[in-house]
Amino acid sequence: MSDLINLYQELIMDHGRSPRFHFKPDFFSHEEEGFNPFCGDKVHLYAQVHDDIVEKISFQGCGCAISMASTSLMLESSQKKSLDDLKLLFKKFHDFMMGDITTEDKQLLGKLEIFQGVKNYPTRVKCATLPWHTLEALLRKIDIKE
Ligand code: ZN
Repeated sequence: MSDLINLYQELIMDHGRSPRFHFKPDFFSHEEEGFNPFCGDKVHLYAQVHDDIVEKISFQGCGCAISMASTSLMLESSQKKSLDDLKLLFKKFHDFMMGDITTEDKQLLGKLEIFQGVKNYPTRVKCATLPWHTLEALLRKIDIKE
């Protein structure tokens, strides 16, 4: 188990130091900002949505390694996904961070399961869920406009 925890930590540190999809695109259809006052993490998401598909999504922001890693890994899992898929992924990740989910649901989360260790630190859970709450707010905006 400790090897697995080390692997998790390495992945979080890697994505925390050099988050993927960390740029403001020239074109985007929707955006949303999130802020975690407990830690000072900031995330600004930019999405290009066409029909019911999030074609591209990236971010600008700064914060602790956990918030940056969580944003980076969330965005890796969010490219070219339907709105419904993203809503489901949000729900599963949220449930996972707040309690337990089935093995089947964990398979849906894939790499996102590395945030398992963060669950032991309630203040850091807010860092890990910040990008997800921001994504959920963005998805709600898309729903309203359609
Ligand atoms: Zn943080």
